Parts: sequence; structure tokens; C-alpha cells
Amino acid sequence: MKEPSEVPSQAQATGLQQLVDRDRDHNCGGFGVHHVCVKVDAVAHLPTRFGDFQIVAFWNNRDNKEHIALVHGDVIGAADVPTRLHSECLTGDALGSLRCDCRDQLETALRALASMERGILLYLRQEGRGIGLVNKVRAYALQEAGLDTVDANRALGFRDDERDYAVAAHMLQSLGVRSIQLMTNNPDKIRQLEQHGITVSGRLPHVMASNEHNRFYLQTKAARSGHFIDIDEGARLPRQGDPVVVAGDREDDAEG
Ligand SMILES: [Zn+2]
Ligand SMILES: [Zn+2]
Repeated sequence: MKEPSEVPSQAQATGLQQLVDRDRDHNCGGFGVHHVCVKVDAVAHLPTRFGDFQIVAFWNNRDNKEHIALVHGDVIGAADVPTRLHSECLTGDALGSLRCDCRDQLETALRALASMERGILLYLRQEGRGIGLVNKVRAYALQEAGLDTVDANRALGFRDDERDYAVAAHMLQSLGVRSIQLMTNNPDKIRQLEQHGITVSGRLPHVMASNEHNRFYLQTKAARSGHFIDIDEGARLPRQGDPVVVAGDREDDAEG
């Protein structure tokens, strides 16, 4: 193995590294109804194909899930830090599934964050919008039988979205950011983070291309889950900030 070329600013690594020592005995009342508390457990440099990051591994007191943050630039004490919350999707992120847009979202976010002065991506291990991998596959099977993504989750006894962002809020607080600009089309994420005391100073729209496999899924997210997605580059667009356009999807015959 070659030396990693150009280790960026040791000062950065040192900054985050200090959080490991700071958190060694951390134990607060916790965030949210489940009183989740996290500690920064380990920090290392992570060069990626999208740019340079530090990877921050967190321990938490709730489950054995290993949530991480990818941090670009200097974020401790910073305001308006561009931030993306990404929920793990094994089938999309790692296996390249076209049933959803997760991998495109992940890659787009990492590229965008790496091009900015600073940024954070929280990689949250809440597979299948919090229902887990096996249940996600069950939901896919129900979708093949004709249900949409929301009804399929409900048929399995879950809410449309089981994700809880208390852990994300604590992670952001642990990273010492003063405020964030959230890269999202999902207003629920903003609401939840604010409820947990995170200052969201703005929203950065997240622009993605759809494909023939995930178009219906994206339409459902827009129509039924209140996401700011404009599938047809058309009329319906809501309150907050810039319209979010799903590029490359202009067929005249799109239903809905
Ligand atoms: Zn805590
Ligand atoms: Zn996915």
C-alpha cells in the first residue's frame, strides 16, 4: 500500500479526535422518548472516491447499531454546516438496487459535501426506513402484489416511516455544530431535529434523477409522505425554499 496521498490538515483530525477523550465518561439524560445517548468512540481519516472525510464512529446506549458520521472540513463550533442524514439501505447503497433512490442520494450528497468548505453526512443504521432488512424485503414482495410503499409498510404493521432522529440530533450535538443546513426533501426530518434542539438554519434541496424502477416509489413519497419532490417538473410545489426537481423525468403519460 502506498502512503495515503495528502493527508488533509492534521489539525482537523486532532479536533475530532479530542471528542473521543471528551466523551469517554459522557452520560447525559439522553435525547427523545428513548433517552438515547451517544459517545464519539473513534475517529479516523477516510479518503473516498467522492472526496476526503473523517469517519466518526459512535457508541450509543440504545441498540447495538453502529451509527457513523462522515465529516468534511472543520465543523466543531461552526454554524450553517451543510448536513445530510442518510438512512442505511443495504440493497441500494451497497448492492445497487434500482427499487429506490438511496444510492443516488448518498453519492450526490457525498459529492456535494466534499465540494463544500465543510459538511457532515450522518449514516444512520435504520434500514428500510427503520423496519429492518427482512421486513423491507417482505414489503417489496407486497409491492409486487400491487401495494405502494406506504400501504406495504402498513400491511406489515408499521407506520409509513419508523425512523427516529433523536440519535441523529445527539450525534450533531456531539460533533459540536452550532447550526446546520439540512440537505433534504423531507420536512419531517427538519421538524424532528428541531424538536430535539438542533438549530436548522436552512434547507438545501436534494435533486435526484428518477428511473423507471423507482419512479412510482418517488411519486408515492411526494404524494403520500409529504416529501418535496416534483416528479413532473410541474405545478405542485410547497412552502419551503426552492422547488426540488426530479430531473430527467418528463414523460407526458406519468400517472398521478
Ligand atoms: Zn448523551
Ligand atoms: Zn433504498
